[in-house]
Amino acid sequence: MNSPVYRFAPSPNGHLHLGHAYSAILNDEAAKQNGGRFLLRIEDIDTIRCTPQLQEDMLEDLKWLGLHWETPVRKQSEHFSEYTKALAQLEAMGLVYKAYLTRAQIKRFFAEQDASDTPWPRDPDGAPLYPGDDNVLSVQEQQAFQNSAAPYALRLNMAKAIELAGSALSWNEAHQGKIQADPAAWGDVVLARKDTPTSYHLSVVVDDSLQGITHVLRGKDLYHATSVHRLLQTLLDLPEPHYEHHDLILDETGRKLAKSAKDTSLRELRASGATPLQIREELGL
Ligand code: GLU
Repeated sequence: MNSPVYRFAPSPNGHLHLGHAYSAILNDEAAKQNGGRFLLRIEDIDTIRCTPQLQEDMLEDLKWLGLHWETPVRKQSEHFSEYTKALAQLEAMGLVYKAYLTRAQIKRFFAEQDASDTPWPRDPDGAPLYPGDDNVLSVQEQQAFQNSAAPYALRLNMAKAIELAGSALSWNEAHQGKIQADPAAWGDVVLARKDTPTSYHLSVVVDDSLQGITHVLRGKDLYHATSVHRLLQTLLDLPEPHYEHHDLILDETGRKLAKSAKDTSLRELRASGATPLQIREELGL
């Protein structure tokens, strides 16, 4: 068997915190224990929020923790054309549509729905499912959008995608075994945003495949996203990695750490005198 390939894939849209340190160290250790490789991937498709300075800080924090990764590091913003190619494959299968609704239109629609007896369905992260332009706009309004230069996102027609991929999708979760995937829970996910020619889901499955990732070890916050990833992998004929979703590091109120919270950022901890060893001890590693 080829040696396993692990990756840590942070987004430099804020400073790394203890939760990132936990995930990065777990990946590094798993690679070492299993005679595998450890890759770092910079997920910076959001070129506004992900700045060169934050990226530099991120690399510095990871080096300070004592981590080593292979170079060159894959930076998603340098590979938009590869995601566009995958998107074209899905388009050719008739699975992609232009979604024009503005934030204000969507917000108004959800407010109306939630005021009714049956609140609009939510995805596993709690966000309302995209309603589809035809649910919100009249035929004339839809035509006006299509004839205009208004920006649009590209979305996956989830029902059609599941029909094509088959509903028997699953993944192998470490310590648990086979998990039934439920991509329908996410509705018509975004494949390319209005301001970016790709999306998190699309670029992550393309990159995991291109980089030969065999083991995706990441936080439990992305557990349900795996359903969408398995669907896209199946449609695009990409290999299926092993998955393991580790516990999240929580703050003292039991909430997930945020990049905006200063007290758990690795920079702040370092500035207040913490050592990499203390960080590992605090994380129980
Ligand atoms: N870039 C994602 C994040 O920072 C992680 C993606 C992944 O591990 O699949 O949350």
